[in-house]
Amino acid sequence: MVSRVIPVDPFDLVVFGGTGDLARRKILPALFRRFCAGQMPETARIIGAARSDMSDASYTQMVADALREFSPGAQSHADRLRDFLGVISYVRIDAMGEAGWAELTQKITSVDRVEAYYFSVAPSLFGPLAERLQGHGLADRNARIVVEKPFGRDLETAKALNATLARYFDETQIYRIDHYLGKETVQNLMAVRFGNMLFEPLWNSQFVDHIQITVAETVGVGGRGEYYDRAGAMRDMVQNHLMQLLCLIAMEPPARFDPDAVRDEKLKVIRALEPVEPHHIVRGQYNADPDDADTYPDYRTAVGNPRSRTESFVALKTHIANWRWAGTPFYLRTGKRMRERSSEISIVFKETPHSIFAEDAGRHRNVLSIKLQPNEGITLGVTIKEPGPGGMRLIDVPLDMTFAEALGPDGGETVDAYERLIMDVIRGNQTLFMRGDEVEAAWDWTDPIIQGWTDRGDVPKPYDSLSDGPDASAQLLVRDKREWRKI
Ligand code: NAD
Repeated sequence: MVSRVIPVDPFDLVVFGGTGDLARRKILPALFRRFCAGQMPETARIIGAARSDMSDASYTQMVADALREFSPGAQSHADRLRDFLGVISYVRIDAMGEAGWAELTQKITSVDRVEAYYFSVAPSLFGPLAERLQGHGLADRNARIVVEKPFGRDLETAKALNATLARYFDETQIYRIDHYLGKETVQNLMAVRFGNMLFEPLWNSQFVDHIQITVAETVGVGGRGEYYDRAGAMRDMVQNHLMQLLCLIAMEPPARFDPDAVRDEKLKVIRALEPVEPHHIVRGQYNADPDDADTYPDYRTAVGNPRSRTESFVALKTHIANWRWAGTPFYLRTGKRMRERSSEISIVFKETPHSIFAEDAGRHRNVLSIKLQPNEGITLGVTIKEPGPGGMRLIDVPLDMTFAEALGPDGGETVDAYERLIMDVIRGNQTLFMRGDEVEAAWDWTDPIIQGWTDRGDVPKPYDSLSDGPDASAQLLVRDKREWRKI
């Protein structure tokens, strides 16, 4: 199956923080892949801008090294690699001072090109960068900014950041990135929901028993210990990624697939989320790996804070107070050092109201399972008769909507989330980006939960490395006569 690639208009993309980890691992490889696919025009220009003193040549070399490391197959595209490196240049810049801005301004001279400014720097630099872009006449109507997470650490800081950015840029120019929204399967979820007659009539509390969203990682905090210990799983994962997934599952059908129609519906979901009761939430901190504690220490050792009360795991139950979802629990969990790396949304339907089969035939629930990683795909568990003799026994088989099966040997073109999102920025499509009011509403729901932990002096429960999290997390569902799906 050959997919259609529509080239985007010529653009200038300035990557602030262009020497950083995110730029080297994600942003530059994503651009390179879109360049190879013919979507990024050869007249586009990428300007790395960071604090290090580097020439164009040494920056280009750094980019080439990063592509070799993080973009498998870059070597086999030697011609394309050379051409891609040809569109790259570098400016040494200080986000907090005046150094480099005159040079950058000189480079951005064209009037009729999209100008995108990617803020791949610490959040404390978002405001200063926006201010300087405007001060140097770069915040014109062709300009747009891309802002990485974290977007604030609570409602107050998010509001302040929104207000700062709004002084220099219109909301239509601000692209708050959540890479979960750029995943192929997340968009396919919308296609499945709104492109079929089959699901939407059942998509409510009358037919759905409950919904689970799990984002499990096997890695620990790694080198991000200092940042992570100030954030924790609730801020780092739930407030943004898990909430965004929940919104796409729970929202009403938007009138159109356009940015504000979709984001209006997502916002209504966040605003309808009920506060979480303290006994409906479980926090955990991972233990050391018993076989190799030096390489995989416990959470507190990993972050260098022996008294830390920050959670590396959180599981919670919440409800959405509206007609569609009243009575249907949403269970969310995320953690580090868990059994498997797995991100999955499961829509667990109710049992049939009455079974016509003998009791020992077994009884199953349909589960629509949307897997985001490691292998993206959507399956629907359907109950059928176990083939062969032996009477009527029911088994559960997955109807596979995995792309490799459905779309031919290549599984269609796989596009990484960053590739899609950066091209959306250039195209000016904000559908898959968070609006300022959405982010604020998400903090408004999250803040009292975190504040409650502080007020109560809550201490996270220890859990074994490479496990499903604390036992209390399992109990959260067992109490409701349910269980977590296997990670
Ligand atoms: P990093 O520390 O590796 O890189 C920081 C970059 O900022 C460097 O290029 C540095 O030169 C530049 N910089 C620092 N101070 C500067 C200044 N005063 N003026 C100009 N440039 C300056 O950080 P990172 O891991 O690449 O993360 C960048 C941003 O992306 C952060 O906001 C982070 O929270 C976010 N983020 C990172 C990841 C990731 O996987 N690394 C994932 C999600 C979000």
